[in-house]
Amino acid sequence: GTRRWRVERRHDIDAFTPGLLSLYESLNPSEEHKAKQRQLIESLTNSVSKEWPNAQLHLYGSCANSFGNSHSDVDVCLQIDTAAEENIAELLLALAETLRKDDFDNVEAITSARVPIVKIADPGSGLSCDICVNNLFAVANTKLLKDYAQIDEKLLQLAFIVKHWAKLRGVNETYLGTLSSYAYVLMCISFLQQREPKILPCLQAMEPTYTLVVDGTECAYFDQVDQLKDFGAENKESIAELLWAFFHYWAFHHDYRNDVISVRMGNTISKQEKNWTTRVGNDRHLICIEDPFETSHDLGRVVDRQTIRVLREEFERAATILQYDDDPCVALFEPYDYES
Ligand code: ATP
Ligand code: MG
Repeated sequence: GTRRWRVERRHDIDAFTPGLLSLYESLNPSEEHKAKQRQLIESLTNSVSKEWPNAQLHLYGSCANSFGNSHSDVDVCLQIDTAAEENIAELLLALAETLRKDDFDNVEAITSARVPIVKIADPGSGLSCDICVNNLFAVANTKLLKDYAQIDEKLLQLAFIVKHWAKLRGVNETYLGTLSSYAYVLMCISFLQQREPKILPCLQAMEPTYTLVVDGTECAYFDQVDQLKDFGAENKESIAELLWAFFHYWAFHHDYRNDVISVRMGNTISKQEKNWTTRVGNDRHLICIEDPFETSHDLGRVVDRQTIRVLREEFERAATILQYDDDPCVALFEPYDYES
């Protein structure tokens, strides 16, 4: 209930900021990792341009949105002019064939996913890579995340730590019914948009300076973010306070029954107005995170009755550890033990 939301954060919470900041620093991708990524992208470009000379290769996801760490894969989107009759599945199968010939490892076309992809591994670097075709929403939302990251470093700090926590606690697995990295970053942006004083603005509510039209949907927002460098300066909360408040919000304060978090609106909106109150197909809407551009898409759709419980227990566990534990950084990131 909301009663516990009124719990005062512990007076010594700031003591954990230096430890969290050095964790953040250590999670940043190494130069070696970045060099491997560049090498993979280069060999991929060579391979693709032989077959499709006009194809454009865009990076998306965490190798381009600045939220990547040394374990992140490489996400690539190919923009290819296709004859209308050629469908994406055929194109992906042809792409897989080409890449197999060029000696990439573990080449696999997954054509039935919501976003169909080819998965490959790079024999040189060992990195894995997901390739999608003509999915410009991913290109647009990657740029949006990157632009938010440039406004205030607290977003990068919070999101790196939350992603790290989610991986270790086993709640970053969409195929098992928990949330994607992308969803966690949106949760962090939304949270910082709602601090008092605000740490992030709502770029989609400002005069658009960037527009990309994807399948008839306009992805538009203010992208001159160098003008917003001081936006969050009034807010003096430390990263330890913010992390505690983030988990506390998702553990005890978020209204799971009625609310949707919306980076697009910079606020929560109601399930009612989105018609997300009843289950349709597999969309249960038990935790609602609106995609900023594909607004009919709920990033929480993968969560079911059982995993919503797991998620909420993990949020509570994290909030409680940050509130009461003597050495929270140890317990917080303790790997989840599937055996017990
Ligand atoms: P990681 O470091 O874990 O690889 P990531 O930022 O690459 O993190 P992913 O969850 O792998 O995150 O997603 C990669 C990209 O794919 C996202 O940045 C986003 O552009 C797009 N994406 C992922 N999931 C969705 C989704 N459910 N709906 C729309 N776009 C998505
Ligand atoms: Mg990725």
